[in-house]
Amino acid sequence: MIAAMDITVTKAERSKLQDINFDKLVFGRYFTDHMLEADYENGEWKNIEIKPYQPLLMSPSLAALHYGQSIFEGIKAYKGKNGKACIFRPHDNFRRFNISAERMQMPQVPEELFMEGMRRLVELDKNWIPDKEDYSLYIRPIMFASDEVIGVKPSDSYKFLILLSPTGPYYATPMRIYVEEKYTRAAPGGVGFAKTAGNYAAALLASAVAKEQGYDQVLWTDAHSHKNIQEIGTMNVFFIINNVAITPGLEESTILEGVTRQSAITLLKEMGLKVEERTLNIDEVIDSHKAGTLQEVFGTGTAATISMIKELKYKDYIINFDTATWKIAPGLKKWLTDIREGRREDKYGWMWNV
Ligand SMILES: *Cc1c(COP(=O)(O)O)cnc(C)c1O
Repeated sequence: MIAAMDITVTKAERSKLQDINFDKLVFGRYFTDHMLEADYENGEWKNIEIKPYQPLLMSPSLAALHYGQSIFEGIKAYKGKNGKACIFRPHDNFRRFNISAERMQMPQVPEELFMEGMRRLVELDKNWIPDKEDYSLYIRPIMFASDEVIGVKPSDSYKFLILLSPTGPYYATPMRIYVEEKYTRAAPGGVGFAKTAGNYAAALLASAVAKEQGYDQVLWTDAHSHKNIQEIGTMNVFFIINNVAITPGLEESTILEGVTRQSAITLLKEMGLKVEERTLNIDEVIDSHKAGTLQEVFGTGTAATISMIKELKYKDYIINFDTATWKIAPGLKKWLTDIREGRREDKYGWMWNV
């Protein structure tokens, strides 16, 4: 618990804003002038500081480096119509952060530290939010184990940070993907539902193999039969079959519950589509393609919003789509972007004013 949200603020002497070429933003490479830092020690969050973005000093025995107790979030801030900063559904990310923390035996981060810390930091660096269509400020909260002891056990101390990184349009050209049958992202009882560092390290080999073969990503399937669909790379996935939107359900805890996934479900329903969250077997997808009812396949996530799939390969069966004729995925992307950038009414109250 934090007694009172005492945040010490130390401002940067000079802003780096002028040094950045906003026309050549590489995702995740540039950071704003400030960051938030807090420490968990003896059961308490303390040393809550907003300070100039800077390296951390750490011992080589830092627990997170050895055993991977590390979780993160990805959120976006926009410049609203009134010129004020607003953040897309941050309370959902806050809740998910603490779900990840619980699974990884890490302490809960109090809502006040997460939300008020983020609000104050974004407010301070609000000039970094690009005021251009499809641009935003990516917010990266992270927590990791900071004990300086080599021993397999939950750490007693942790560090919580929030970093901000300006991002440009994510040129989401339609992707080529294949159904992964060798490697596994998540199994029941595992950590697939947590946004934890090791999940991404474990997925890199499958992505590299896909790239060697000229594909962009893999479609993850269940660990046992390699037939039930889970996610595309680090995105949730939707299939439109016979005007029904189908996305894998969350019962097995093998799927990361995306905020974009949840928003897509809401908007697809508003568009008049039936939405089903359930087990989806690759054989059903192939059969629907043979029957001519498979319409669209796309991924959803904070970084790219909606990514269309132009080729889907399963064993020797290859499905090619003409994404230029699609209506649903592009319509959904536009709708969501318009809400975030203030061009469309925010009737669900998704935008949180800083
Ligand atoms: C972050 C993430 C997503 C997408 O979640 P959003 O909240 O929509 O950004 C989906 N799958 C994985 C594995 C992720 O890490």
